[in-house]
Amino acid sequence: MEYEVIIGMETHVELDTQSKMFCACSARFFGVEPNTNVCPVCLGMPGALPVINKRAVEFAIMVGLALNCKIARHTFWERKSYWYPDLPKGYQISQYQYPLAYDGWIEVDVRDLSTGNWSEESTRKRIRIRRAHLEEDTGKLIHVGDKSYVDYNRSGVPLLEIVTEPDIRSADEAYAYLSALQQLVRYLGVSTGDMEKGAMRCEPNMSLRPKGSRELGVKVEIKNLNSLRAVRDAIAYEIRRQTALLARGEAIQQVTLGWDEARGITVVQREKESAHDYRYFPEPDLPPLEVSDAWLDELRARVPELALSRQDRYRRDYGLSAYDAVQLTSDRAVAEWFEQVVACAADRETSAERVRMRAKAAANWIQTEVFRLMKAHNLALSDIAALRVQPAQLAQLIRLVEDQTINLNTAKQVFEEMFESGADPSRIIEARGLAQVSDEGALRAVVAQVVEAHPSQVQQYLSGQEKVFGFLVGQAMKATKGKGNAQVINRLLREALEGQRARQ
Ligand SMILES: [Zn+2]
Repeated sequence: MEYEVIIGMETHVELDTQSKMFCACSARFFGVEPNTNVCPVCLGMPGALPVINKRAVEFAIMVGLALNCKIARHTFWERKSYWYPDLPKGYQISQYQYPLAYDGWIEVDVRDLSTGNWSEESTRKRIRIRRAHLEEDTGKLIHVGDKSYVDYNRSGVPLLEIVTEPDIRSADEAYAYLSALQQLVRYLGVSTGDMEKGAMRCEPNMSLRPKGSRELGVKVEIKNLNSLRAVRDAIAYEIRRQTALLARGEAIQQVTLGWDEARGITVVQREKESAHDYRYFPEPDLPPLEVSDAWLDELRARVPELALSRQDRYRRDYGLSAYDAVQLTSDRAVAEWFEQVVACAADRETSAERVRMRAKAAANWIQTEVFRLMKAHNLALSDIAALRVQPAQLAQLIRLVEDQTINLNTAKQVFEEMFESGADPSRIIEARGLAQVSDEGALRAVVAQVVEAHPSQVQQYLSGQEKVFGFLVGQAMKATKGKGNAQVINRLLREALEGQRARQ
């Protein structure tokens, strides 16, 4: 029998605000001495009063807007009972009845990742978002031997919980959803999205059912997934495990599973629990949250064009491959840098065909020379905006190659200097005398010398060994110190050789 998997995803995103959700303590706790980012509010002292972090609310609304959600205009905070020592108040301030954002969707490109190779083919899929609400993170429990320690630095850090409808149907779709969500929060600048550091934590819930059946199977939850890859591997593993169990006629247990990365298997963390009674009730220490039209408009204006939309645009307007479009949009700063190069490389007079040519050239330059030099300088992709070399200068360089002032090899040398010094390409070309030699008289003399100096290679060419032609072009380029116009040299050399053939 064939089975179908039904997956829903619950993701917690730590918002990258300066201060915590309800107090002025720093929200940046990574690598900080335990229990130093704390105050009476986030330590749950009696009588301490919370204050709403406006920036966190703005970040949450921006994510909601980017996820095509409706935004609740009047909502309030609730207390959710919590029994563990990592939240010392004994409750978590959250939103239950009326989440800040609800009824949205995200579109993702799903690619087959099973082969490990890039696939230009993809399937576009829409995954519905049920809700996204704000709450506060817990502290961290650290267990050492028979002792347990608690660090409250993370307690009270703004947390956005994003819940999908059960629309995900494969491990690849789960991967595509999560990577799109990670990219979305990074594009918005509201979270680092680092799964390895726990800034984004996801818990898929999944069940299998016979294909075509309307009933839902027994649901399991998977926790402890700290990379995109772990999510894909854990779901793929669980689909195989459950399919095998069902095929043998065995029942699936309703459990919470953990992912054992080293062994590549899921392990039972908890048996089925009775439903919690969280005893939600309105938070009496905080006012309701009102979102005005003006505020919403202001936030809408701060949501940038997202990666997928840019990819579609680059492919449609510039004829880029899916691979190039994905690479150029992987980081928002790179996408913006690329778009600036394209904008500077064309004006209103430029034909559409030439705009496409220059955009493709820009895409190639960025993915090869720009990325190579950035990597050599240990720069992250997001550092592109701070480079000495400016997008307008790369646009100039592209045009200098196009009008054959320099050839591509020389351009690469020039770019290295532009990258180091930020100088204009035309100045470097002039200062170093790198301009391409296109003068036919000069190049004809060079070609004649090369033909004369290599009689045996010329004979080989004339007897049909075409590859010798490349060698002779190379000799002519060398004679011009790499500055000869390769196209002109090619043509003149061909003329000279064919002239010899005619004379023989
Ligand atoms: Zn505090």
